Amino acid sequence: MKLGFTAKEERFRAEAAGWLQGQLSGPFRDLRGLLMQGGHAQRRRDWERALGAAGWSCIGWPEAYGGRGATLAEQVIFAEEYARAGAPGRLGYMGVELLGPTLLAFGTEAQRRRFLPPIARGEELWCQGYSEPNAGSDLASVRTRAVLEERAAGPEWVVNGQKTWTSFAQFADWAFVLCRTEEGSRGHRGLSYLLISMHQPGVTVRPIRQMTGGADFNDTFLVDARTAAENVVGATGDGWKVAMGTLSFERGVSTLAQQMSFANELRTIVSMAEANGLIHDPQIRQRLAHAHIGLRLMRYSALRMLSSAEAGKLSNEAYTYKIFWASWRKKLGVLALDVLGPQGEIAAGASYEWELLPRLFLGSRADTIYGGTSQIQRNIIAERALGLPRESRSS
Ligand SMILES: Cc1cc2nc3c(=O)[nH]c(=O)nc-3n(C[C@H](O)[C@H](O)[C@H](O)COP(=O)(O)OP(=O)(O)OC[C@H]3O[C@@H](n4cnc5c(N)ncnc54)[C@H](O)[C@@H]3O)c2cc1C
Repeated sequence: MKLGFTAKEERFRAEAAGWLQGQLSGPFRDLRGLLMQGGHAQRRRDWERALGAAGWSCIGWPEAYGGRGATLAEQVIFAEEYARAGAPGRLGYMGVELLGPTLLAFGTEAQRRRFLPPIARGEELWCQGYSEPNAGSDLASVRTRAVLEERAAGPEWVVNGQKTWTSFAQFADWAFVLCRTEEGSRGHRGLSYLLISMHQPGVTVRPIRQMTGGADFNDTFLVDARTAAENVVGATGDGWKVAMGTLSFERGVSTLAQQMSFANELRTIVSMAEANGLIHDPQIRQRLAHAHIGLRLMRYSALRMLSSAEAGKLSNEAYTYKIFWASWRKKLGVLALDVLGPQGEIAAGASYEWELLPRLFLGSRADTIYGGTSQIQRNIIAERALGLPRESRSS
């Protein structure tokens, strides 16, 4: 594993840092420090387009699809500088980090040429339609159905069902949706991975209000929603493999940017403890030190995970990574409130106007749920990393 960077890579760092600093102290000053959640949709859209226009949106993708063909080291550097500059959580995340890599791995050439460049330019936003009211951890229970129908203009999928917890669906132009396409099939078999336009009469999005006061995720209803026959990724009926591929990309380079923003959060807590004197409390000091150690461990695990992924292997770090960072950040949220004291329980204004630390506390409650709950992560570690017998399953 290589932990240092070459002179050429450091020049790349200076270029990226220069651009980010210029934007975030200039035209996008208002977006500095915004987390993943939290309103400002139009400005975030503008930010996606600015990244795209300057060629900083999807730097790891091949140039033919709007990327820069950046090396892993360059992607790591950009992720670090992105977070160091306080650049905002990305509205384009689902397209950039999840669908894009999925199409590169499983898509047809026509799908890549149609869908990747608008993502890279920040022009089309995506959402992920996996979860349903009765299919979350047990994702193989999805019931949304898609049937191929002959039309004059060519065959089309007709899709019916309900998706839930669909983050950013209200802003999305397209959704990647896991559907059952084989009548009577059960479990992992007979599912397909469809790309569906959100701009059609058959799609209704209903925001779900969260305890932060905002609504980042939604119920998404599909009633005779339509998409062209060729908008299936991978083979029809083989969508489970593609869906699992997408989930594995959640452990990509963006994890390093995520860590830098965690470091910013920890620094804010330390500053607050210095300001209110709690820095002298032995228990708070212990917890701050523990948080720092966790952050360092996360960094080394992520670098090890990324370098083994580059070599085509999935390391055991990859299995433990999600549960580690999610549990760490949940504890950080509690520490933030303990350091803030009663002030942490008072909202300064309307939704999304909470200070960073109360938002950190509330947002971190979801970290051990999305992208696979901690219980599910433990099952994965038991089965795949430790080789224990599989949990009994009904289907
Ligand atoms: C902030 C946020 C954003 C999200 N965004 C999206 C999105 O964009 N698109 C999308 O499709 N989904 C999204 N989700 C949904 C997310 O993927 C699910 O919440 C998650 O998979 C858990 O499913 P569930 O909520 O149905 O809980 P359930 O699966 O019903 O689980 C309930 C509890 O039972 C436990 N449990 C379940 N099965 C087992 C088992 N076999 N062994 C041990 N314990 C078990 C779980 O760990 C959990 O504690 C989001 C969720 C959150 C919180």
